[in-house]
Amino acid sequence: MHAHVAGRSEANIRTAFILNLLFTIVEVAGGIYTGSLAITADALHDLGDSFSLGLAWFFERIAQKKPSSLFSYGYRRFSLLAALINALVLIGGSILILSLAVPGLFSPGTPDAPGMFLLSLLGITANGAAAYRMRGGKTLNEQLVVWHLLEDVLGWAAVLVVSIVLLFRDIAWLDPALSILITLFVLWNVIRNSRRTLLIFLQGVPPSLSIDAVEEALVALLGVCEVHDTHIWSLDGEHHILTAHVVIDADTPADAVREIRCRVKQRAAEMGISHATIEIEEQGEVCVRPEDF
Ligand SMILES: [Zn+2]
Ligand SMILES: [Zn+2]
Ligand SMILES: [Zn+2]
Repeated sequence: MHAHVAGRSEANIRTAFILNLLFTIVEVAGGIYTGSLAITADALHDLGDSFSLGLAWFFERIAQKKPSSLFSYGYRRFSLLAALINALVLIGGSILILSLAVPGLFSPGTPDAPGMFLLSLLGITANGAAAYRMRGGKTLNEQLVVWHLLEDVLGWAAVLVVSIVLLFRDIAWLDPALSILITLFVLWNVIRNSRRTLLIFLQGVPPSLSIDAVEEALVALLGVCEVHDTHIWSLDGEHHILTAHVVIDADTPADAVREIRCRVKQRAAEMGISHATIEIEEQGEVCVRPEDF
């Protein structure tokens, strides 16, 4: 059943990727043809979406691979590369658009308003239809795709409004102003997503967990006296790694120790930890660490 859901989600993401990429090409051509910076900025936004969809699709496949002797934690961290490459492409593209749009505010060209109008109708229809088709997607990735498509509909709606105004009034700064707005929105998303990616890269404690909460949950287990030297980090934001020292009573019989170890692992699994290494210590025992030598 799991494989089935994953397969369907992968097919949906692949379809979204191909459609998005085709549409980006149409959009770049449309931006050049109409001379509209707003459409060009939106094309950048869509290029970013295509990139992240394509990379998500590509790295999702790699991430599924079993751990090897070279990558003993498996390949999940490879998905972080996708986010990093995507951020770099979007930042580069944003700088390019801003370098065109900011001077454009002061010496505006005249974009082809009827062309913008027709393109925006096409954009609203294409993205709206795609969002409708993918509605009710279960996985996080599918929901992200739907959110992106709705975002694109909004972007096109803004282009539509501007093009209608331009049909009747010659307010030339409107188009570069909208393109700056769209680009700032793209950059804001990049920064938001990069913070999350950096936290994972730098082995921060995942926001969904805290050292205190995990220690508390483990100490609450039967037979556990104390928990210390707790470390939590995340492979990819979804699969977390835990190491900890678990202190038990000195006279705990061997079979009870095995049970405690099992309970700790089970509790860890419930908290979304996919790999836990615990060291069992007896109360009163000196905690030995490599850095003490
Ligand atoms: Zn988007
Ligand atoms: Zn292990
Ligand atoms: Zn210890």
